[in-house]
Amino acid sequence: MFVELIGIVKQKYIQTKKYFTDDYRDLFVKAYQFTRAKTAVAFGYYPYYLDIRDSEGNSVVIGDKKVIMLGSNNYLGLTHHPEVIEAGIMALKKYGSGLTGSRLLNGNFYLHEQLEDKLARFVGKEKTLVFSNGFAVNLGVIATITDEKDVIFSDAMNHASIVDGARFSKARVQVFAHNDMNELATRLNSVSKESGRLIVSDGVFSMEGDIVNLPELIIIARKHGARIMIDDAHSLGVLGPYGAGTASHFNLTDKVDLIMGTFSKSLAGVGGFIAGEEPVIDFLKHNTRTMIFTAGLPPSNTAMVMKALEIIIREPGRRERLWENANYMKKELKLLGFDIGNSSTPIIPIIIGSDMKTFAVWRDLLDAGVYTNPVISPAVPVGRSLLRTSYMATHTREQLDFCLSQFAKIGKKHRILHSRS
Ligand code: PMP
Repeated sequence: MFVELIGIVKQKYIQTKKYFTDDYRDLFVKAYQFTRAKTAVAFGYYPYYLDIRDSEGNSVVIGDKKVIMLGSNNYLGLTHHPEVIEAGIMALKKYGSGLTGSRLLNGNFYLHEQLEDKLARFVGKEKTLVFSNGFAVNLGVIATITDEKDVIFSDAMNHASIVDGARFSKARVQVFAHNDMNELATRLNSVSKESGRLIVSDGVFSMEGDIVNLPELIIIARKHGARIMIDDAHSLGVLGPYGAGTASHFNLTDKVDLIMGTFSKSLAGVGGFIAGEEPVIDFLKHNTRTMIFTAGLPPSNTAMVMKALEIIIREPGRRERLWENANYMKKELKLLGFDIGNSSTPIIPIIIGSDMKTFAVWRDLLDAGVYTNPVISPAVPVGRSLLRTSYMATHTREQLDFCLSQFAKIGKKHRILHSRS
């Protein structure tokens, strides 16, 4: 039946048109032969680009069905905070909708610089530089701060934007096994002293929710003359006494050279930043191509992020509620018998293994009113497909208990609960 359906999809969609004579390779052939997504639609398992019609943050309406959102990075629930929305409206009315140019030229606003000052104070660095998205920060900064004489040491589970930043750079790249500080040390040892070294790692790993072993990483980096860059996309607002991220969580802010963050998660907007010493930030400001050749962050978004930051500092109770919810779910999911890996943050994976089973569990949960993110290779290693669940300060206990009851039922149906004896 599966094989038949795949055949039908292929028959219907694969195009064999020829636009050129046989001597030329047509770039579009790969697209004409791409049927994976259409096959998933035919099976009813297509999980991407869902039709979200409405959102209250902790729940969304997909098509005409309201579901509890366990797949968002809106950790503190600030996307719907009235003060954040009001700040955006005011800035939109006052400054207009967009900047129509790069910050280097006509698109630099006082609001950007105000936000940069506040962020620098928040993360404990001299200066910051605000970009139009977090991906562009990693892509641009990694490629600009390294050159052909250098080596980048990157954790195997780093985010795609770090992987691409390393590819974009002229430096050599060495990937070390996930959070494996012995391998990192060995690799650093094998590189000549003439090469500059950058170690780059996620602070909180985005798929499995574990935290970088920063204390050891710092010792190794200092011993081998390496600079350190930490991606705090999932740590800002979440880790540290004030939500200032991974370095502050370990009380090691002054030992991390570059702190990268995004606004697309706890900060409830889009954009990103890099923080560090003044000369380094000034160098990046004038040389990073993903900064100088792209339009500046719109004023409304900048004002919203600034307000979200103010609320993170002013309302530590939000972070406390986030952790209460995350700890509750971690305990209950473990008790039910799910494999939740090594998560120690509000990102909790439910490790399933096969792609097909992951999609089947995802579909059943969605039908039952629970949205989770199905994650397959290359975002995780082959054979370690999982449902990424993430929690918010604004999830109610009633919502979480409803999700747990569905996890229990559907987990049992698909035999993914492990006995605890
Ligand atoms: N780094 C990490 C660890 C991320 O998870 C993401 C986004 N998923 C990014 C960088 C890119 O951030 P942005 O959404 O701001 O482009």
